[in-house]
Amino acid sequence: PIRPREELDAVDSVCPYCGVGCALTYYVDRSRGAIAFAEGRDQPGSKGRLCVKGRYGWDYAASPQRLTVPLIRVDSSYPKGPLSADVRGDGDRERGRRGGKLSKNGKDGRRKPGGLVDYDEVLPHFREATWEEALDLVARRLMEIHAEQGPGAIAGFGSAKCSNEEAYLFQKLIRAGFGTNNIDHCTRLCHASSVAALFEGVGSGAVSTTYGDVANADVVIITGSNPTANHPVASSFFKQARRRGTKIIYVDPRASTVSEHADYHCQVKPGTDVAFYNSVMHEVIRLGLIDLEFIKARVSNFEELVRTVNDYPPERGAQITGVDADLIRQVARVWGEAEAGVIYWGMGISQHTTGTDNARCLIAMCSITGNVGRPGTGLHPLRGQNNVQGASDAGLIPMFYPDYQGVDLDATRRRFEEAWGVQLDPNRGLTVTEIIGSVLKPGGVRGMYMLGENPFLSDPNTNKVRKALSQLEFLVVQDIFMTETAEFADVILPASSYLEKDGSYTNTDRRVQLGRKVMDPPGQARVDWEIVQDIARRIGLDWSYASPSEVFDEMVALMPSYRNLRHDNLGLTGKLYPNADPEHSDGTVVLFDERFNTDDGLAHLVPAQWLPAKELPDADYPLVLNTGRLLEHWHTGSMTRRSFALDTISPIAEVYMHPKDAADRGLAHGQMARVRSRRGVIELQVRISHREQLGNCFIPFHFREAAANLLTIDEIDPHGKIPEFKFCAIQVEAAK
Ligand code: SF4
Repeated sequence: PIRPREELDAVDSVCPYCGVGCALTYYVDRSRGAIAFAEGRDQPGSKGRLCVKGRYGWDYAASPQRLTVPLIRVDSSYPKGPLSADVRGDGDRERGRRGGKLSKNGKDGRRKPGGLVDYDEVLPHFREATWEEALDLVARRLMEIHAEQGPGAIAGFGSAKCSNEEAYLFQKLIRAGFGTNNIDHCTRLCHASSVAALFEGVGSGAVSTTYGDVANADVVIITGSNPTANHPVASSFFKQARRRGTKIIYVDPRASTVSEHADYHCQVKPGTDVAFYNSVMHEVIRLGLIDLEFIKARVSNFEELVRTVNDYPPERGAQITGVDADLIRQVARVWGEAEAGVIYWGMGISQHTTGTDNARCLIAMCSITGNVGRPGTGLHPLRGQNNVQGASDAGLIPMFYPDYQGVDLDATRRRFEEAWGVQLDPNRGLTVTEIIGSVLKPGGVRGMYMLGENPFLSDPNTNKVRKALSQLEFLVVQDIFMTETAEFADVILPASSYLEKDGSYTNTDRRVQLGRKVMDPPGQARVDWEIVQDIARRIGLDWSYASPSEVFDEMVALMPSYRNLRHDNLGLTGKLYPNADPEHSDGTVVLFDERFNTDDGLAHLVPAQWLPAKELPDADYPLVLNTGRLLEHWHTGSMTRRSFALDTISPIAEVYMHPKDAADRGLAHGQMARVRSRRGVIELQVRISHREQLGNCFIPFHFREAAANLLTIDEIDPHGKIPEFKFCAIQVEAAK
């Protein structure tokens, strides 16, 4: 029976999916121990709104497939991580077709969740263990590898799904406990290149203004982003602003739904962003629409930029990008003449081998027109995961301690050594992409602690990741489900979902909010920060944190940007950082009103020449693959594919194709296609889509039964070390 609202417990929390971080309330029926429904609540960045994931996507936490007891591998003859044969990369149709196990009923006759690890197949290779035994084994094996092969043989992947406090403790464990900076998380796969460019250009990796500030802009550029699917509530702010008169310039190879709300849609060819923005800047400068006063007072290296963009007249820009030269001119005029403009960008900018160069161009676009430091102006990389901003802030990256303080700066390191009471590694650690490569080399990483990441499906070139994970001497995975990566583990620790713990999360706007515990973890599953603390104690660290707020206080004391924030002054709507007076203020919306965060206070322009993607189409592989997300699913699908509503709306992996590309190959809508790259092959259903450009295909990476990353290339951006998820060459044919 559905109980009336008054009989339900209301718990105020935040959505666990995207970087928008909508505020919501869960209504809990304690008599059933279950959430009855979720509702948006008022907060400056969400105003009571929720998308389908926030409103319906929480039931995965009650899935019968939750890990509830520690597991230890027993069967060494069982090849590590065989992936149940259905993520094989050889196009095996019996296993891979039409959503894999989606339509197969379990022994009890009930529908099995689609495309997930087959527990019946995997679990016999593990045995249940006590927490004592599992934690002792983890500590002993990691310390043995550390003693025999040195600190560089250990690495940790943290999670942008965990809280700030958990991210802080996890990086502290790897750094203080194992003496290495080999610690990273999925920021490496989303905005690492944007952060690299922003640090270099303006001295801070966070956004310079909020997405709500779109209301004050005359014009916005939304680029490399499909906000309707990936940042749905932020996208509603963009659409509302347009109704009030803000012009939208949309620059993206796909004609996603936001293109229908745009005043100008520049459908660039994939991988040509540098050429497009250089051309726009060429025209802005030629028309004299730059802000000379701003440039003189606050920008360095403008002359070098002028020399570079001089080579990109609109005609050349049109030739490279496929966008009409007149449209480039129009965009330049609209952007240059606006009083206030913001650029919002997504992973279509960052996930390229030229990702840092792409973001450098956006910084230059804003800097030369004076579009930074005032309401309605600025730079905003739309962060992907709910806490990727916070996890990065908390130091879950190999080159920085918390608050982006360099590990290779002596004075900084001494400060952290003093605070943590240990000696720290003076060298930068390896990134996610480098760690995978290192495992395959002599003298590389041998032991890994994986907290809430699923690199098997999320990292590029799955077959390379498979090889690396299976070669590790010891892998511990801490997660809430038996993920594809957990199949490779020696020990699996059952962890807590965000519904089962307290902690703070920082959204794309720099808003630090509290997530509150709704229910207890199932079975013997435990809260993540407590598990990390237990391992820390076993390897000799003297930790005795009693609560997440105690961890938060220690973290904030080391992070000038978070100064003044405490759990008890975040309130129900959270606070933006920096914040001089959280008791009375929501925090600072617009940064850099007087100076940038760089040493000299100036914006440093770094001009970029256009370079093509690493693997261009040819006669054998004539199409370009772009990977990304759908509205209803999240990353590797471990949460959303166990959500009844979300998996019901979007149950099947599909390749999105331009009608002519499909027709040329004799493919009809709904037909099975075989998609092949130089690295692997998958089979999935065709979706004819007028949103794709001729010659380009789109495949979401949520579906293990058609794992898009079997196809992707593991070439990386030299600065941000981010993979080129948005471009590789493929061929598509009918599945026979
Ligand atoms: Fe959750 Fe993002 Fe949707 Fe908001 S927009 S409800 S944060 S997924």
